Amino acid sequence: MIFDQIVLRYGDLTMKGRNRNQFEKKMLQQVKNALSGYEGVTYWKTYGRLYVKLNGHPWEPVAGRLKELFGLVSLSPVRSTESGLEEIRSAAMTVMNALGKPPKTFKVSVKRAWKGFPHSSHEMNHLVGAHILRAFPELSVDVRNPEVELKVDIQEEATYVFCEVIPAAGGFPFGSNGKALLLLSGGIDSPVAGWMAMRKGLEVEAVHFHSYPYTSEQAKDKVVELARRLTYFSGVSMKLHLVPFTEIQTTLAQSGQEHLIITLMRRAMLRITERIAESSGAGGIVTGESLGQVASQTLASMNVIGRATQLPLIKPLIMMDKQEIINIAYRIGTYETSILPYEDCCTLFLPKSPSTNPNLRVVERIEAGLGGLSDMIETAVRDTEVIKLYPNAPAAKSDNPSQEDAWF
Ligand code: ATP
Ligand code: MG
Repeated sequence: MIFDQIVLRYGDLTMKGRNRNQFEKKMLQQVKNALSGYEGVTYWKTYGRLYVKLNGHPWEPVAGRLKELFGLVSLSPVRSTESGLEEIRSAAMTVMNALGKPPKTFKVSVKRAWKGFPHSSHEMNHLVGAHILRAFPELSVDVRNPEVELKVDIQEEATYVFCEVIPAAGGFPFGSNGKALLLLSGGIDSPVAGWMAMRKGLEVEAVHFHSYPYTSEQAKDKVVELARRLTYFSGVSMKLHLVPFTEIQTTLAQSGQEHLIITLMRRAMLRITERIAESSGAGGIVTGESLGQVASQTLASMNVIGRATQLPLIKPLIMMDKQEIINIAYRIGTYETSILPYEDCCTLFLPKSPSTNPNLRVVERIEAGLGGLSDMIETAVRDTEVIKLYPNAPAAKSDNPSQEDAWF
């Protein structure tokens, strides 16, 4: 086994000064949850770093899982050794020998964090570099643009030798920035919005509106599957609130205000969501809206819709293009599920020409004229079904031609 540990580096977390301890604890818990299936793996941390001791497990699958966790900026498989010159040289040789294709150029970058070590970083660059050059006559040093950068991190307890720095998902540890409700439809956008919100440290509970029997059981299964997929990234369970929306939707559809029906529906959704937020302690609502994508996502529409709630509306995708959103959906493994053909409650009632510029006063007047709307909202809240979803194995990766490798 060339690499015996994986070193994990934190991201945004370093900026959070006082909360640091708590964040590090959350991070460690997250790592433990994600690696619960790997028997014998152990953990330890130093300031700003978390180490996973592999105890015989190959590093690739472990790193593959860890790079999807929120709050880590990068990780490296490392070979650890005693902090002595000969031990470090020998570990450096082992790592170089393990490279698949022998490089033509390299450089050594030594960082001496332990000031008790007898040689300076500069001296060590030469001492290790010369040792390697003697063993690989074809190899030469290129300090500007080497094919391989052999990094040597000298700490008191051990020295870590590695050459790969794998980017991770970034953001904050899951749940370190509070809780929000995610409006989850069966579409492409909202699961991506949920992933982005979770990446920024929000714990998320999903809320889905269905119009059974107009919408099918499969449409519900699809949303359940999407929510379940999101739990893979947090490593913990997620609540999904399934709200019966049929009565409200059919009432709104009969209001004779066809072009405003989407505006009215969205406002009703927000009111219900606000009520759910009260009982679940959520401080915001996340949606998959993207500016200008459809009639309900113009600035004017979002203005009128957003006034139905006091809670902050978080719209991670607001400035993104559809293709950018689709690319993320591929990478996080929600795309294949999202494009399954089952009808969404809103598409069923979609008018021919929805308003792109609704008037708040008019909308409020219509709502006031719809006797019983607030009772219907109460009933929907009361009859909401809550299910709890648990992380399972990752869905098969789809092959998106535009997918970049190792994006996370
Ligand atoms: P998506 O791909 O997420 O469905 P969209 O581009 O189709 O988004 P809309 O259908 O206009 O856009 O919905 C805008 C947002 O409203 C969605 O991203 C989602 O957050 C929320 N939403 C829409 N329909 C539902 C629903 N049935 N249940 C819960 N939230 C919904
Ligand atoms: Mg939709």
